[in-house]
Amino acid sequence: MHYLFIAGGVMSGLGKGTITSALSHLLKNSGLKVSALKIDPYLNYDAGTMNPYQHGEVFVLDDGSEVDLDLGNYERFLDTDLVGDNNITTGKVYREVIERERRGEYLGSTVQIIPHITDEIKNRIRKVAESSDLDILLVEVGGTVGDIESMPFLEAIRELKGEEPPGSVLTALVTLIPEIGQNGEQKTKPTQHSVNTLRSLGIQPDIIFCRLKGQLLNSTRKKISRFTDVREDGIIGIRDMKNVYGLPKVMNDQKITQYLTGLMHLQTDPFRDILQQFNANIENPREHVRIALVGKYTALQDAYISHREAFLHVTGNTGIGVSIEWIDADEMIERPEAFNKVHGVIIPGGFGYRGVEGKIAAIKYARENNIPLAGICLGFQAATIEFARNVLGLKGANSSEFDTNTPHPVIDLLPEQMHVTDLGGTMRLGSKKILIKKGTLAYHVYGKSVIEERHRHRYEVNPDYIEKFSKAGYIFSGTDQEGIRMEISELRGRDNFLATQYHSEFRSRPLRPSPIHLFLVKKALEYKMKRERS
Ligand code: GLN
Repeated sequence: MHYLFIAGGVMSGLGKGTITSALSHLLKNSGLKVSALKIDPYLNYDAGTMNPYQHGEVFVLDDGSEVDLDLGNYERFLDTDLVGDNNITTGKVYREVIERERRGEYLGSTVQIIPHITDEIKNRIRKVAESSDLDILLVEVGGTVGDIESMPFLEAIRELKGEEPPGSVLTALVTLIPEIGQNGEQKTKPTQHSVNTLRSLGIQPDIIFCRLKGQLLNSTRKKISRFTDVREDGIIGIRDMKNVYGLPKVMNDQKITQYLTGLMHLQTDPFRDILQQFNANIENPREHVRIALVGKYTALQDAYISHREAFLHVTGNTGIGVSIEWIDADEMIERPEAFNKVHGVIIPGGFGYRGVEGKIAAIKYARENNIPLAGICLGFQAATIEFARNVLGLKGANSSEFDTNTPHPVIDLLPEQMHVTDLGGTMRLGSKKILIKKGTLAYHVYGKSVIEERHRHRYEVNPDYIEKFSKAGYIFSGTDQEGIRMEISELRGRDNFLATQYHSEFRSRPLRPSPIHLFLVKKALEYKMKRERS
């Protein structure tokens, strides 16, 4: 078993998650059995209750775990389904230790950070590595070296290194190389300081990933090596890239696999660049469409990272480039003409009332003007409300999430949610089977009648209204296995309007793009060409 820990120096936001993901892709496609794990030093048990504005999107796994968005990056680059154990938080570690203490399992000892917390951290890391019989587990340590919160984790890494055979535990540090002045001189001091901080915790790095704008100069590499004792071939330049899916190749060109396997005594095959054509399509798309994403966290695009990636996957597979127009839902009410420039609309998920009326206005505009639309989760619920109000004529129709006194709760609490009080981990979560009716648009899009997609919601279509909807042409073309919960809706006779209760963006992978995003982009291109002709 081999472990590579990836910590961050200098500052946050240097792309540790992307570097970890790209490296995992490179190693997997060099013939190794690889997985990735994220350590989040915050006290939250998981990401489920976190505001997307603070931490970006909450990602959902097959098993229903609500996790850090980096797990989404790992899944996309590794093309593997991960589980909740692949995300360790301080909250999970302490909860376990405290519960064990309450059960008396520490037999009267004083429970302390060292050894009890650090042991629990090591157990969790080892459990992930051993459960899937890996060659190498990449472990990304959130935060920046020197933060108080990450101390117990770095201590656990130091201990693990001492306990495992030599050469089986390596550490990488991601740092920033500022380029200063007119000549863009590459400065190494922040890197030197970060390495010193890591060393003061007893850890000598084996690899340094240098984030910078351009190419890492050989003289810079030499200088870093001299000050940090990291071999020159272990110092990898990570320049800014438009397309992160090209990063595995950038790393491979710097021979990182040879360096790593040399230290770890692992055998690999030559790298198989399975994303070559995919990247070529992203870098030189043949066609181009503009898609409006109408949301309430549009100021922070990381809040919708899985949608952004899903559209990239579509481009990589079709050569149709997608520009996303980030439209704040509240603005929609005043200026639906923002849609004049776009060829398709996506309404993503969300919680709480803010932005909902804007989303409903956007859906009305798209429905009435034949603009291609995909609604996801709250987007599906908003499409249902819009149809109820404006076609069925149900005045004041709403979701009971937003108006508990609505005369027409067309979206209502899931029955099993009635007595739920805790917010964390209590929604209808994770992968569920969906049955699609033959002959529908959804069937045409998926090409099969049983699919599996991931969920994260508390509310659903109120069964009392289903017949009314169907009679008026708003059809539920997909349901859960029991046929009780509505999962997909479409408009009779319309081939460019589809909404889903589930989140297909979470299962989108580079070479297997989300069928809903693929559908929307294809319809957007049709719409664009038709409009240009007329
Ligand atoms: N707020 C809605 C619900 O809980 C939609 C959730 C979502 O969009 N993820 O059902």
